[in-house]
Amino acid sequence: MVRIVFLGPPGAGKGTQAVRLAEYLGVPHLSTGEMFRMAAERKTSIGLLAQEYFSTGRLVPDEVVIGVVQERLSDPDCSGGYLLDGFPRTLAQAKALDAILDQKETPLDRVIELTVAEEILIQRMLARGRADDTRQAVAKRFEEYAMQTKPLSEYYLERGWLVTVNGEGTPDEVFDRVKRTVGF
Ligand code: ADP
Repeated sequence: MVRIVFLGPPGAGKGTQAVRLAEYLGVPHLSTGEMFRMAAERKTSIGLLAQEYFSTGRLVPDEVVIGVVQERLSDPDCSGGYLLDGFPRTLAQAKALDAILDQKETPLDRVIELTVAEEILIQRMLARGRADDTRQAVAKRFEEYAMQTKPLSEYYLERGWLVTVNGEGTPDEVFDRVKRTVGF
């Protein structure tokens, strides 16, 4: 039973590592980015709304994201723990998550932050070519990250949950570090 949040700038390899760690720990991998992309493909009202934001690199409004996550966390498969990837991304989301988890009396166990030098991040993002990875959207995502998401490291450091992992190197090298650092 383990509840983990993954943090890191766009292109840090968060998604790749989050999938591997979730599988390794046997908990569901909850990616808000993936949820929004899937909802957009199915053309649900939340999906179409979210698409207006993610296609230009802006953050989806907090109340929308928080609602989606809150609902997902009450699914039965989350009762044995989970790994959150891409949420929270703002201080308001982090506080909302704390409130939800306080109410359930299920606090987070760890927050893992992947760090990668900025030149490497930009190269990786432009190389992968996802539909929302245009040069302009990528620049906007970095700006949003610096302004809205980076302050979460401090927030979680103060709570004593933060561990920082160097995200440079091959996926296997990084995964070994992730496993060693989280100590599972
Ligand atoms: P990345 O590859 O940059 O980590 P994600 O796949 O996590 O991106 O998310 C893609 C897009 O979905 C983001 O750029 C953002 O518009 C939206 N999104 C995902 N999670 C959140 C969140 N917690 N708050 C606001 N917007 C989000």
